[in-house]
Amino acid sequence: MDFVSRFGAAFVRRWIAGVSVDDAVRESALINRAEEQVMINYLGEHFHDMSQVENAVNTYSELIDKMEKNKVHGCIAIKATQLGMGIDDQRCYKNYIFIAKRAQKAGVFVWLDMEEHMYVSKTISLYLKALRERKNIGICIQGKLKRSYADARRIVRMHGRIRLVKGAYDESRRIMYTDREGVFENYLMIMRYLFEHSEEFIIATHDDRIIDSALRLNLIHRKKFAFAMLKGIRGKLAEKIAKQGNTIFIYVPFGPQWLAYSIRRLREGSNIALVLRSVLQQ
Ligand SMILES: Cc1cc2nc3c(=O)[nH]c(=O)nc-3n(C[C@H](O)[C@H](O)[C@H](O)COP(=O)(O)OP(=O)(O)OC[C@H]3O[C@@H](n4cnc5c(N)ncnc54)[C@H](O)[C@@H]3O)c2cc1C
Repeated sequence: MDFVSRFGAAFVRRWIAGVSVDDAVRESALINRAEEQVMINYLGEHFHDMSQVENAVNTYSELIDKMEKNKVHGCIAIKATQLGMGIDDQRCYKNYIFIAKRAQKAGVFVWLDMEEHMYVSKTISLYLKALRERKNIGICIQGKLKRSYADARRIVRMHGRIRLVKGAYDESRRIMYTDREGVFENYLMIMRYLFEHSEEFIIATHDDRIIDSALRLNLIHRKKFAFAMLKGIRGKLAEKIAKQGNTIFIYVPFGPQWLAYSIRRLREGSNIALVLRSVLQQ
């Protein structure tokens, strides 16, 4: 194997289930065995060609079928730009509803991931419109964006379901908090709001301070909430959280377009050395 392939394989092993739907379902079965649920995502974003969109819709359909057949405990996570946002917004809406309907029949919940700031308003509008006709859908909100507290209130007031993350994209200082404490405080403010006003939500983070705060808030509010983490990151902590009786979802990405996702995880983590070590040990 050449260096690039070995490097790629190491990424794939750590953060990504594999390239096919079957790989994702197989990995999910292992995760389910550890009393953790899955949140499966087909990798890819910013499609500019309808054939890529069709392929994504077909892949999610196949995934939902196989999740049902194999009794996978979990949900799926899709991106608006995989469904045609930015190419044909009407088609994007139809695709979203199509997947949500199909998922509902299989008892699968559908999360809408959140992408860069230019898609945020459009993604929230897409979600709120679909919420009028589908109930098995939720949306990701990014805690580091200054607008997110207002967005969360709007969504909760319409009985939407939120998955709160910090946010994976670097945006301008004008629209996001860039320092650790600023992000933390804004995340906490939104999380408190969810505990006080939302019926059901997900706290998606690997941050101990946030996890501890959520557990403390739940002693007061007793909400139906779950944690979520990314595959390959802080797996021991995920295990511990599940063993303590909390619901936890592991985000399981799959598909051939693993590079952009892996670069984001590498940038966030301190695990460049770890990945390099696993490559060299092959
Ligand atoms: C289930 C789930 C779904 C997500 N969906 C979206 C989405 O739709 N849109 C979006 O913008 N973002 C999404 N994200 C990513 C999220 O926005 C953050 O980029 C990511 O979770 C890191 O933030 P953190 O809260 O874990 O805090 P951090 O402060 O980044 O991390 C806390 C601690 O976790 C560990 N850690 C975190 N990341 C890594 C890593 N890569 N490698 C090694 N250790 C690490 C470190 O110990 C770190 O100190 C999602 C995250 C999760 C868990």
